Amino acid sequence: MTKPADSTQELQHELHRALGKKGWLNDADNLRKFGTDWLGRSHSTPIGVAVPKSTREVSEVITLCRKFNVSISPQGGNTGLVGGCLQHTDRQWIVLSTIRLTGEICIDKQALTVSVSAGTILQNLHDALAEHDLSLPIHFGAEGSARIGGIVATNAGGSHAFRFGTVKDQVLGLEAVLADGSIWNGKRALIKDNTGYQLKHMFTGSEGTLGVITGVVFKVRPAPRTVVTSLLAFESLENAQRFAEHAQARLHEVLTGLEFFTELGVQLLTTHLDNIQFPFSQTHHCYVLAEAQTSLDFALNEAFEQLLEDCLEMELVADGTVALNPAHRKALWQIREEIPEGQRREGQQLKHDISVPVSRISEVIQTATAECQNLFPGVRVNAFGHLGDGNIHFNLSPPTGNTDFGDAGPILSNRIYQLAEGFDGSFAAEHGIGSIKVDLADQLRDLTERQLMRTIKMSLDPKGILNPDVIIQTRESVRQKPA
Ligand code: FAD
Repeated sequence: MTKPADSTQELQHELHRALGKKGWLNDADNLRKFGTDWLGRSHSTPIGVAVPKSTREVSEVITLCRKFNVSISPQGGNTGLVGGCLQHTDRQWIVLSTIRLTGEICIDKQALTVSVSAGTILQNLHDALAEHDLSLPIHFGAEGSARIGGIVATNAGGSHAFRFGTVKDQVLGLEAVLADGSIWNGKRALIKDNTGYQLKHMFTGSEGTLGVITGVVFKVRPAPRTVVTSLLAFESLENAQRFAEHAQARLHEVLTGLEFFTELGVQLLTTHLDNIQFPFSQTHHCYVLAEAQTSLDFALNEAFEQLLEDCLEMELVADGTVALNPAHRKALWQIREEIPEGQRREGQQLKHDISVPVSRISEVIQTATAECQNLFPGVRVNAFGHLGDGNIHFNLSPPTGNTDFGDAGPILSNRIYQLAEGFDGSFAAEHGIGSIKVDLADQLRDLTERQLMRTIKMSLDPKGILNPDVIIQTRESVRQKPA
C-alpha cells in the first residue's frame, strides 16, 4: 500500500503549489511537533503538515491526497487524549492543521448565535462573546489550546455538560469538507430545521473520520451576572455525592459546576506545580468544586449560602471556602483543572475516561479501587471528574517507588472498562474512541452498532482517506503498534 517515493514527492509538490510556503510544512521540527500527542506519549511521522487558510484550500488538500491515496489526520489544538491526530499504519499520511482557519467571529445578539471558523481557539471565542455579554457553556482545562473544529469533532463535554449538555447540544449548524473533497455548507443558524437527517450531528463526535469541519454555528446564552464558586472538603465520597444531590435539588437550573477530586490529586498537584494555593491546611478524603450562576436578578449568594449552612449542619461538608472575587474564583478552578497536569508530571500513568449513572459514582470508585489494589498492590488511584454527569477520570499511577506498571497495565485497564460497562456506564465518556479504544469498542459494543458506524464510514469515505484507524478501522489501514 506504501506509495513509491516519486508519487509522494509529486503530491508534496502539488500541495506546496496549492497552499504556498506557509501552507505546506515538512521540516523536521514541524514533523516532530505535529507528530507528537499532547501527553508526549505517542509519536508518528507524517510526510508533511498541510495548513490551509480557507475551506476551498481544505477541499484541495483532500482532493489531492485522495488522488495519491495518502491519508489525512485533521488536527486542531492537538489536546485530544485518545490518539486521534496521529496515524500508526503502514500507509503514508499527512496532518491537516486548522491553525490558519481563523476567520471572523460573527455574533448575532438578537438571535443569540455565533458563527465561527474551525481553527479558532475556544478561549478566544469565549473572550469575543464576553465583550457582548454572551457565553458558550463549554469549559474544560484545555480551552486555551483546543480549537472549535476539534471540540465539535470530539463532542467535548467538560464541567458544564451536566447542566447545558455537551458540544453537540450547542451546535446549530456546521460546514464540513467530505472525503471526496466536496463541501457541505450546513451553517444554518436555525433552532428549527427539520429538513431530513440531522447531518450536523453526524459530524459532532466523528473525530475527523467523516469530514473536516471548517466552520460552526453555535447557539449562545446571556453571560451570567452573578457567579458563586466554592471549594468544599469531604471525609468520604458518599458525603460528596449526598452534597451533590442536595445541591441539585436546591439550585437545579442555576447549578453549573460539580467537579470532584481526591487527596492523591491534591498531593500530586502540590508536589509538581508551584503556583497552586491550596486553601485547606488539613487533608480530607475528597473535594468538590461547586459553582452556581445566573443571568437573572436572583438572590443567588443567599441561596448558595443557605445550601452550605444546611450541609454543614448535616455534617456532610467538613470544610469549605467561597471565592471572594474573580481572581480567587480562577485560583479555585485552577486547582481542579491542573489535577491531570500534576499526575502527568509524576510520570507514567494509565488514563481511563469512563462514565456511570451519577447515583453510583462512589460505589464504582470504591469497587474499581479495590479491584485495582488486588490486581496490582500499591497502585495509586487518582479519581477526579464530573460529579454532575457521572464522568470519572479513573487514572492510575504506579506504586510509590515504581516507575511503570510492568505487565499489569492492560489487565488493569480492561478491568476498569468492563466494570464501567457492568455498571451500565461507558468505557469512553467525553474523550472519544480515537485510535486507542477501537479494539475495545469492537469488544464491548453491540455488533449492530459497530456495523452501522462502519457502513456510514465506508459510504462516506470508502478509500479510508480521513483518519482511517480512528473509531472504526478501515480495510485500507493496517494498524501498527504506536511508537
Ligand atoms: P485535536 O486534539 O486536535 O483533535 C481531536 C480529534 O478531532 C482528532 O480525532 C482530530 O482528527 C479531530 N479533529 C480536529 N479538528 C478537526 C476538524 N476541524 N474537523 C474534523 N476533525 C477534527 N475533553 C473533554 O471533553 N472534557 C474535558 O474536560 C477535557 N479536559 C481536558 C483537559 C486537558 C488538560 C486536556 C489536555 C484535554 C482535555 N480534554 C477534555 C480533551 C480535549 O481537550 C478535547 O477532546 C478537545 O475537544 C480537543 O480539541 P482539539 O482542537 O485539541 O482537537
